[in-house]
Amino acid sequence: MKEKIHPNYSEAKVICGCGNTFMTGSVKKELRVDVCSKCHPFFTGQQRLGAARGRIEKFNKRYGQEG
Ligand SMILES: [Zn+2]
Repeated sequence: MKEKIHPNYSEAKVICGCGNTFMTGSVKKELRVDVCSKCHPFFTGQQRLGAARGRIEKFNKRYGQEG
């Protein structure tokens, strides 16, 4: 049994840049993301996406040092 708790909160289809799609709860009906749990190196434990890894290092460099 599944009842709506919030009127605008329902299942949304998430479309990842890797082509993977999955359902999640959101007020939006459709979401687009660059990485998901299936292709993100942080979740997979692999680093097959060099671009994503570089982006993370860039992020850490920018925000990690200034606290
Ligand atoms: Zn993905």
